[in-house]
Amino acid sequence: MSDIAQVIIIGSGPAGLTAAIYAARANLAPLVFEGLQPGGQLTITTEVENFPGFPEGIQGPELMEIMRKQAERFGSKHHFEYVDKVDLSKRPFEVFVGDTVHRSHALIIATGASAKWLDLEDEAKFQGRGLSTCATCDGFFFRDKEIFVVGGGDSAMEEANFLTRFASKVRLVHRRDSFRASKIMVDRALANPKIEVLYEKEIVRYLSDNGKTVTGARLRDTRTGEEMDSRIDGIFLAIGHTPNTAFLDGQIALDPGGYVLLNGPTGTSVEGVFACGDVADTRYRQAITAAGHGCQAAMDAEKWLEAQGAH
Ligand code: NAP
Repeated sequence: MSDIAQVIIIGSGPAGLTAAIYAARANLAPLVFEGLQPGGQLTITTEVENFPGFPEGIQGPELMEIMRKQAERFGSKHHFEYVDKVDLSKRPFEVFVGDTVHRSHALIIATGASAKWLDLEDEAKFQGRGLSTCATCDGFFFRDKEIFVVGGGDSAMEEANFLTRFASKVRLVHRRDSFRASKIMVDRALANPKIEVLYEKEIVRYLSDNGKTVTGARLRDTRTGEEMDSRIDGIFLAIGHTPNTAFLDGQIALDPGGYVLLNGPTGTSVEGVFACGDVADTRYRQAITAAGHGCQAAMDAEKWLEAQGAH
């Protein structure tokens, strides 16, 4: 049945695209669903300095573009569409994009993770109106403005540093008195004269003079509980990520945090379904580890298909 793909790959970050390169070179003609953010999180990060092979660093979107080209060169087909749901109860598996159903013998889930929000009142209303989770996308709008960056991990350090290219002042709001970020990233942020750290503070409310854009925030001291209002032109959240597994609708075993539980290096609780990258990684979450994991998933899928006699 020619309309059944050997393998469908859902996701287009380093994991999905590396899986596509390997699956395509194995002659599996993979179908890749790139989703609503083709290229994944790297397309909204700043310069990637730690991906081997790029001694001068490389922009995230460019890295993803060349990975896609490399996969296409070997015959992978890319759809810039969002997968709403899957049916893993029967084989071939079914992958739904709206009303259209695609079928495949094997499936690779590489849907990554998405930025977390604070879940405060008016959060949705202020998104893109002074409130953002993407410094690369929105930093430009804060030239000579004062902003908060929330978080104490590597992302917060990286975003705070990047935003000093535009902002006149960046205040790093962190709920504890020590950082989770790596020492080199913390040192770089602390050495930046435009960055000031507000330790043991959390945002409990977004404030707006005009009802439309963020013009301030209410901060609470996490030690004393004392609250104070502060004027600010913009707020960037860098407080971690949530794995994109909701579309699986309970058909695959997940850990309590919603990450895919792996059975072996890339296997899942459903035979023939593999997972790779941030969607299944609570520990490393790096572009290079996701890429390596994508390679493993494609090789495992290929071996599995071969054993099934489908390839
Ligand atoms: P992360 O390491 O999970 O850090 C999230 C930070 O946000 C933590 O400091 C956490 O505070 C804080 N936070 C979480 N929920 C919060 C809330 N509701 N209110 C206030 N603060 C909250 O996430 P990440 O920084 O995005 O990094 C994820 C992974 O990517 C890490 O492995 C990191 O090393 C990697 N990464 C690497 C680079 C690089 O090497 N260039 C750049 C970016 C990210 P607590 O510390 O109190 O929990």
